[in-house]
Amino acid sequence: MQKLEQLYEGKAKKVFATEDAALLIVQYKDDATAFNGKKKGTIAGKGVINNRMSNYLMRRLASAGVPTHFVEELSERETLVRRVQIVPLEVIVRNLSAGSFCRRYGFPEGVRFARPTVEFSYKNDALDDPLICLPHIFAMELATEAEMADIRRYALQINALLSEFWESCGVTLVDFKLEFGRLPDGTIILADEISPDTCRLWDSESGEKLDKDRFRLDLGGVEDAYAEIMRRLEEHEKA
Ligand code: ADP
Ligand code: MG
Repeated sequence: MQKLEQLYEGKAKKVFATEDAALLIVQYKDDATAFNGKKKGTIAGKGVINNRMSNYLMRRLASAGVPTHFVEELSERETLVRRVQIVPLEVIVRNLSAGSFCRRYGFPEGVRFARPTVEFSYKNDALDDPLICLPHIFAMELATEAEMADIRRYALQINALLSEFWESCGVTLVDFKLEFGRLPDGTIILADEISPDTCRLWDSESGEKLDKDRFRLDLGGVEDAYAEIMRRLEEHEKA
């Protein structure tokens, strides 16, 4: 499958058309942004890691019955995916307190919740992706009630599957962000990516951060953390 014209360049990926109108090619970049683009940089090799990790995890989810956009890995940085109309929401699942949850509520980091939480942000860079509630999602007709029920169910199913997988790699899945989209027939599927850019991943023993927070918070060792989390995943893949 050949890349045709570039349709979009996002913060982390470029999106290209293909000769098949139902398929797109996403190309992962090393560009890193944080705090809705206010902080910019690069993380050498990140695009290669995120591409491979996202594809591996989406294949696992698909085999457990979660529909995803993944079709085929084309190269180190490029993947063929099913084209969807993105639901303009960031779907955030949390198992432990971190990040904006702690800032918003003045709550300590690293507290495990009795049950996971699911929340939504309105995907809108100009507005800094504000937190949004279901009534407002329905008022703006961003998604229907039936679609939100599917999205919530998939988000919790994905959390259960990924939490168990990462725990077997010695990693705690603290929280993560998903994006869903609609196929032409209206079916909701998982799209975008699952990577250290979009997940908080802490070493289960030491609590060391092995994700984009090392970049966001200037903790150093950013490239090493991405390499380490990929190493853990590959070790599991071999076992
Ligand atoms: P952003 O700057 O919005 O985070 P990214 O660089 O992460 O963008 O990704 C590029 C864009 O591709 C995003 O807007 C994302 O929603 C979109 N996208 C991801 N998967 C698909 C897909 N299967 N079909 C259509 N668009 C997609
Ligand atoms: Mg993105």
